[in-house]
Amino acid sequence: MKSSHYKEGKANIRVIPKKGNLMDRCATFSTEYLCCRVHVLKSVQNCPYDCSYCFLQSYLTDGTTKTVADIDMLMREVNDKISAEPQRLFRIGTWELGDSLALEHKTGQAAALVDYFSKLDNALLELKTKSANVNPLLPLDHRGKTVVSWSLNTDEVINSEEHRTAPLEERISAIRKTTETGYLTGLHFDPMILHENWQKGYTSLVLRVFESVAAENVAWISIGSLRFNPEMKKMIENNYPDSSLTCQEMVRGNDSKMRYVKPLRVAMYKELYHELKKHIAPDTLVYLCMERWDVWDKVLGFHPDSVGHLDYLFAQSLYDRYGLGNAPPVRETYEKG
Ligand code: SF4
Repeated sequence: MKSSHYKEGKANIRVIPKKGNLMDRCATFSTEYLCCRVHVLKSVQNCPYDCSYCFLQSYLTDGTTKTVADIDMLMREVNDKISAEPQRLFRIGTWELGDSLALEHKTGQAAALVDYFSKLDNALLELKTKSANVNPLLPLDHRGKTVVSWSLNTDEVINSEEHRTAPLEERISAIRKTTETGYLTGLHFDPMILHENWQKGYTSLVLRVFESVAAENVAWISIGSLRFNPEMKKMIENNYPDSSLTCQEMVRGNDSKMRYVKPLRVAMYKELYHELKKHIAPDTLVYLCMERWDVWDKVLGFHPDSVGHLDYLFAQSLYDRYGLGNAPPVRETYEKG
């Protein structure tokens, strides 16, 4: 069934067989920006939530939500790819075309993946969500091979732009539950969005999160800001007339995405990072998502030499802090591409 409106597809869940390759690298990859080279498994397509900035508005128009049923086939592909490079640690997320846990109570897909990944030595599953649907994960024997990650934002942004997602307090309480059952946590302060009193909002967000989350449990933290393809502007204005997302000055980058101007992005990241440093463990890997080399320098005081170098820094941090991976990582392995 063809549909002209992406929202129509949110109510109809179709369980589909696996077709073609579904493991790939993150689609936002661009040589003009530093990418963390996470891999993605496109096991779910579409999402029941309604974030005003969501790129699915311009991407999914076939009137359904699809979830891949055949986890054995999915994992066969993962196994083929990771066993070809046993010395490398792969981070693999399921959030490329949806939310990793929003439909978990209906599909059970994430729980099945957690079980498969628990037996792998050189791969880590990342489940990224704006939900609080973690109960199905709690009894699982995950063996430390799954990172449950949250996309976090201020109450103001959640209320005005992330419709139908879990409120911040519920996300924080879900983080507490997963850490109590030994899962590592990923925190994504992305997309940072300019709004009234944003400094105060993001400062208080960090404080509230770290009141509940043990710093040693946080495997990585990403920071990023609002970005979208130019054609999305009209869609956001039509689909979310109350949103003020498109009122800010934005510039088109080399990857064709609209972003806030660089000095503003730097100021926002610096403010957040300044607050984070008061709470995180000193060896926590903090990175910027799809940013320029000079922005890294201005905010974090350094930049990785390449995408492969950043991938290696992840592997090194995860090996040193949690013993993840087959062996101490070697940088050349990660520079190969
Ligand atoms: S949670 Fe993610 S996939 Fe779902 S609507 Fe929001 S941005 Fe889109």
